[in-house]
Amino acid sequence: MIDSFGRKIDYLRLSVTKRCNLNCVYCKESESSKADELTPDQIERLVKVFASLGFKKVRLTGGEPLIREDIAEIARRVKAIDGVEKLVLTTNAVRLKEMAKPLKEAGVSAVNISLDTTDEAEYKAITGADCLKKVFEGIDEAEKVGLSPLRINSVLIKGKNEKRAGDLIELARNKKIDVRFIELMPFTDEGKDEAKIVSGEEILSSFPFLKPCENKKATAFEKSVARYYEAEGFKGKIGFITPVSHNFCSECNRIRLLSDGKLRLCLGNELQIDLMPFIDNEKALKEEIEKAVLKKPMSHSFACGYGGFHGMNNIGG
Ligand code: SAM
Repeated sequence: MIDSFGRKIDYLRLSVTKRCNLNCVYCKESESSKADELTPDQIERLVKVFASLGFKKVRLTGGEPLIREDIAEIARRVKAIDGVEKLVLTTNAVRLKEMAKPLKEAGVSAVNISLDTTDEAEYKAITGADCLKKVFEGIDEAEKVGLSPLRINSVLIKGKNEKRAGDLIELARNKKIDVRFIELMPFTDEGKDEAKIVSGEEILSSFPFLKPCENKKATAFEKSVARYYEAEGFKGKIGFITPVSHNFCSECNRIRLLSDGKLRLCLGNELQIDLMPFIDNEKALKEEIEKAVLKKPMSHSFACGYGGFHGMNNIGG
């Protein structure tokens, strides 16, 4: 679909739950229940309509998608839909060791893993949980079953883990894992404190051995929001996602379907359209989605004082 600013919108980020097994300081603001979560049937019905409108790539996210017991079934049903060419997933990897194989078998091709530190004490301070070892086991298993590309997404926060960039970059040395730094966005009190943002440029300036990749633009499918760098002898690349310092809204190709059936057109804008009243009527659903896409804002409103709401776990990261 083409939106009112001429952008091709063909990427659906599908949040399957607002619940999470971690409690990251910059992300989760409220507890949620599973009461209003879309069922696999409803997800299938909705994604079929998105696919008929030209959406080709779907990312399963949350909350933490792997805490849904039926996540493999959801993945299998979504991947089987005509028109869904690529199915990927974002996870904190706490349950990835046991889920990597079933997910791969269900049709998930790649995973993004959120990991902000390699230090156990820092990990606990950021996430509230003591399970860094499980995350690394999950990464190993994902690699073993062939989920590819494998990416680690890290948020650096001043006064918390800003000194960990070097250790995180090292993860790309011996394994084909891309490590990407995402700037802190204004969700939760932690994220709303601008003084805590570590910009992409700040990180880059500390690692002069990183050189821009020749092909900074990704392939069509990966029409990527990240700028990539490489280092001699490293198997993986280092990426920078800079929604705050250099937004990439003019290239945005995504919308978000939330776990309660609301459609969110932009991460940094509160406008949401409830699709649930139309869930049993394919024609009406299609019309609502078409109308909604035309309301997608030109850009996010972080710089205009938009402060997010209820944390990113509720929107789908
Ligand atoms: N639970 C999954 C995970 O941890 O990857 C998926 C959902 S989580 C909301 C997705 C991503 O959003 C994570 O990489 C997390 O770091 C990022 N995120 C959450 N709040 C953020 C914030 N305030 N600024 C930047 N990134 C944020």
